[in-house]
Amino acid sequence: MSARLNLVVLGKQGAGKGTQCKRLVDDYAIPQISTGDILRAAVKAGSPLGKEVSGVLESGGLVSDELVNKLVLDRMNQDDAKRGALFDGFPRTLNQAEALDALLGDDGVKLVLNLDVSTDLVTERLSSRRVCQECGTIYRDSDIEAISGTCEKCGGDVIQRADDQPEAIRKRLDLYERDTAPLLAFYEKRGLLVTVNGDQTPEQVTTAIRQVVSERGLA
Ligand code: AMP
Repeated sequence: MSARLNLVVLGKQGAGKGTQCKRLVDDYAIPQISTGDILRAAVKAGSPLGKEVSGVLESGGLVSDELVNKLVLDRMNQDDAKRGALFDGFPRTLNQAEALDALLGDDGVKLVLNLDVSTDLVTERLSSRRVCQECGTIYRDSDIEAISGTCEKCGGDVIQRADDQPEAIRKRLDLYERDTAPLLAFYEKRGLLVTVNGDQTPEQVTTAIRQVVSERGLA
């Protein structure tokens, strides 16, 4: 029997996928694989990959399936992903979902969690989101004065992501509806989809997710 726990976390941008994945990595001893984090790190490092994708990220567009699929393949080959992974921000298109199936083979995706939050609420969350450039800790714009723009955890600069500007937010949410929302039906048909109300405190969402994982006998 396979011991791999491959969990996909779906939801609009700002639904809390990253926050939840960070909370769950310790529970299940599997890494968070966030394609957004990998791409942002490449941009920050100024690597050839970063130079290639920086304009797309800034505008809120999507990087090509081919490139993202390859990044995930490379990441899954690392030792810490031998027991599975929490996929955050991937897959985002049907092509990526099919590539993930091919990559995981018999192990397959075990569960897909859909963090459900209204478009109005995620728009509000994204507009007020501020992020530590160094460690990724998330703040609200109302926190900035109290922390003097400096991350309480690592001392890094806390900034607004370029793709959290209004026009980029609109574009990202449109792309979600067009390219990513169809994945809900794709996974639903296979009995893998569970929708969790994302309009609760992060603690409540984590508790709901842990319950689903345990009810399904996955951990
Ligand atoms: P995220 O942090 O998941 O919102 O990702 C930030 C940006 O990285 C997205 O707006 C896209 O430009 C790019 N990106 C991340 N994941 C993917 C993906 N699976 N497919 C295509 N582009 C992606």
